[in-house]
Amino acid sequence: MDATQATRAVVEEMAAAMEENRRRLTKLDSEIGDGDHGNNMHRGFQAALERLNAADPSTPADVLKAVSMALISKVGGAAGPLYGTAFLRASAALGTEQEVSAGEAAEALEAALGGIKQRGKAEVGDKTIVDALTPAAEAAKQAAGDGSVAGVFRAAAGAAEEGAESTIPMTARKGRASYLGARAQGHQDPGATSTYLLLEAAARTLEGAS
Ligand code: ADP
Ligand code: MG
Repeated sequence: MDATQATRAVVEEMAAAMEENRRRLTKLDSEIGDGDHGNNMHRGFQAALERLNAADPSTPADVLKAVSMALISKVGGAAGPLYGTAFLRASAALGTEQEVSAGEAAEALEAALGGIKQRGKAEVGDKTIVDALTPAAEAAKQAAGDGSVAGVFRAAAGAAEEGAESTIPMTARKGRASYLGARAQGHQDPGATSTYLLLEAAARTLEGAS
């Protein structure tokens, strides 16, 4: 399997994860938001699959760009444009190459985080995607030195899971959950949870592909 096919396989597994976890994400979002996060993510990744089938991209970057366009155009709500920006930045970081090294994979995650922070203006501790993706990008960087792309995503997924759990006691400072004040405490953030699930899907796929 070449890197373009592997990237496509990752997106397919991400779409499957969003389908499988649709209710879980929606339940989390109904506790501290408006209950649409599972549906938003599911719709976005189904649109991404359609776009991939129509466009048949020829580099890993073009795969990620197609996902970005689908998420930006098909997902209302906060998370669609934020994840869309993340995939677009990751795509730009990969350039026009056919192959992706462990270091480049870690850089793509760092770029994705940069895009989300720039667009959403959230920092660690605000109870958002950033709380999962920041430790994920750091762990990815650490793992890149001596590892494979699969190892980078495994490390990122593990850190994202802890990052998502770290949002439970937080008060939200961004997004709809911020309207709840202290009542958001005790609930895990839906967006941080979907970030973990997406990275876990990537790790699982790449481990199987290697
Ligand atoms: P909406 O909040 O518009 O209904 P979703 O339910 O799809 O959109 O997504 C909600 C998630 O978006 C939140 O759980 C949070 O993780 C994430 N989010 C919201 N605002 C921001 C932001 N400014 N930066 C990063 N993530 C954010
Ligand atoms: Mg919502």
